[in-house]
Amino acid sequence: MNQSVGVGVLLFFFAPTAGYAIELGLPLDCEIGQTCLVQNYVDHDMSDRASDYQCGALTYDGHNGTDFRVPTLAMQRRGVHVLAVADGQVLRTRDGMADMSISAPEAPSVAGQECGNGAVIAHADGWETQYCHLAHGSLRVKRGDRVKAGDPIGHVGLSGKTEFPHVHFVVRLRGEVVDPFSVAAPDGSCGLGTVLWKPSLRESLSYRAPAVLNAGFADGPITMDQVDEGIGANPRLPQDAPALVAFVRAIGLRRGQVQRLSVTGPDGETLVDQAEKPLDRDKAQMLLYVGRKRPSEGFKPGRYRADYFVTREGRIVLQKSFEVSL
Ligand SMILES: [Zn+2]
Repeated sequence: MNQSVGVGVLLFFFAPTAGYAIELGLPLDCEIGQTCLVQNYVDHDMSDRASDYQCGALTYDGHNGTDFRVPTLAMQRRGVHVLAVADGQVLRTRDGMADMSISAPEAPSVAGQECGNGAVIAHADGWETQYCHLAHGSLRVKRGDRVKAGDPIGHVGLSGKTEFPHVHFVVRLRGEVVDPFSVAAPDGSCGLGTVLWKPSLRESLSYRAPAVLNAGFADGPITMDQVDEGIGANPRLPQDAPALVAFVRAIGLRRGQVQRLSVTGPDGETLVDQAEKPLDRDKAQMLLYVGRKRPSEGFKPGRYRADYFVTREGRIVLQKSFEVSL
C-alpha cells in the first residue's frame, strides 16, 4: 500500500514538468508585432502589486488573462477575427453588448459582464479558454458547437470592461487560471515555467516591452483619438502641408526610460531632434510627437525619416525608424 501512495505522490510532483498535451494557436487573426501586440499579461503577483511573467510591468493587479491588442479602432471596425486556439467544444457565449469604451461618458455599467461579448471553449484534459470583448453581433458560434484550432468565433471589439480594442484571452486548467507564457512557474522566477504556445509562434511572442504600437507622420499636432482613427497610415503628405509631425505611440514604457524622436530631411539635415525627460513612472501607453511648421519657402520635396529611440542609462532598449514622402 505504501508503494501506491508513493507512486501517487511522484505523479503529482512530476506532472508540471512533464509537459502539457495542449498547444495553443493565436486567439486573433493578426501578425504579432505588425497588426497586434500583447498589451497586458497575467498578473503573477499575489499581493496588491502586479508583475508579469518576466517580472515586468505589462499587467495590472488581478489581471487573469493576456490582452492581444490591435493598433487602431479603425482596424477593429474593419473586422479582425478572434480564433479558437485549439480544438474543442463551445461551453457558453454572450453577445448583444455595445462596443463602447468604459471611459466614454455615456458608457453603461458592465458590472457582472466585464468580459462583454465572448465565448468559453472546453478542450481535452480539463483545459478551457475564454475570449472577451468581442464585437457586438459578431459571435458565430453557439453552445455545443465543435470548433477546430484556428476557427473564427467572432470579431475583436470593444464590449465589456475595456478602453482599447483587444481580446482578453484566459486559459484555465481544471478551473484554475494559468499563464500560457509561463505555466507553473516558481514565484519570482521571471520567465521560467512551461510555454503553451505552439513552437512556430514562440519567437514572435517573445516578450516585448517597451514596444511601438503606432508610428507615422501627420500634417499637424495629433491626439490619441486620431491615432486610434488610423492617422499616419499614408506614406505621402503634400508639400504644402502646414506642418510635418512625426509621432509614436509606445506601450510598456518603464520609469527611468528616455524617449527621443528626431526627423531628418531629404538632404540629411535635422529638422527636429527632441529628447524627453526620463519617465517619472511606468506608462501603459504614451503618445509622443515632434514637428516643424512649414517654412516660408515650403518643404523640400523628398523623403523624410523619423528615428525613435528609447534608452535607459544610455543603453538603447527600443528603436524604430519610419519615413514619409513629401
Ligand atoms: Zn485583459
